[in-house]
Amino acid sequence: MAERSIPDKCRILISNDDGIESPGIKLLEKIARQITSDVWVVAPDQEQSGASHSLTTRRPLRARELGGQRFSVDGTPTDCVVVAVRRLLRDKAPDLVLSGINMGGNVGEDLNYSGTVAVAMEATLLGIPAMALSQDYDDGERIPWETSEAFALEVVRRLLRLPWPEHTLYNINFPGVPAKEAGGFAVTHQGKRAISDNLMDGVDPRGRPYYWIGPARETGEAEPGTDVAAVADGCVSITPIYLDLTNVTVLASLKKLFE
Ligand code: MN
Repeated sequence: MAERSIPDKCRILISNDDGIESPGIKLLEKIARQITSDVWVVAPDQEQSGASHSLTTRRPLRARELGGQRFSVDGTPTDCVVVAVRRLLRDKAPDLVLSGINMGGNVGEDLNYSGTVAVAMEATLLGIPAMALSQDYDDGERIPWETSEAFALEVVRRLLRLPWPEHTLYNINFPGVPAKEAGGFAVTHQGKRAISDNLMDGVDPRGRPYYWIGPARETGEAEPGTDVAAVADGCVSITPIYLDLTNVTVLASLKKLFE
């Protein structure tokens, strides 16, 4: 397995899916500056949550320089990584990409929809080590950003100690509890929740029906050892995500079938 390590004087690129103005990206920038002075922020000009790994191909993209090594792009989280790596930072590629900190957890099947995780996926596809960071919270409650602030630097620093495994990103979730109530670190695998009917029905001002997709997932009992369970238990969840999507356990029987 090809592995790489991160140099001490590293260049960090930050992006997200909540947009350049989100409090989470400002916090992540502050944390990254404790690792290196060479921090760049290239993020969507508007919120792109749920954008997943989508790419804009049918219109041009424009980057706007905001000063202080910060740019907004009128596109998706994936667009931002591509524009940053291929053009804005073409003089020197980032050594590490950090995504987030997302307003809300990204666990279980959230990974299929998350723009936050897609930033880290795109970086991984480009051969750059990446981590996705998310702060869980309960709808309608205050977001406990101080929990991210208390643990993020420690988690990132510790993960940088290991050689970086190929095709792999780290998905990190901070629990939606105050930092002093958090239960430490949990290394987890991706969990699963039952997906409920999360469509809200409404009627628009012209009397036409509409459907609005909400965040609702079945909560219930989470399988132990998963990201879903760890965050529910108040722990900081760290999951290695592998981007080779092949189901290797099925390969042998499938080969027999097509012999
Ligand atoms: Mn988001």
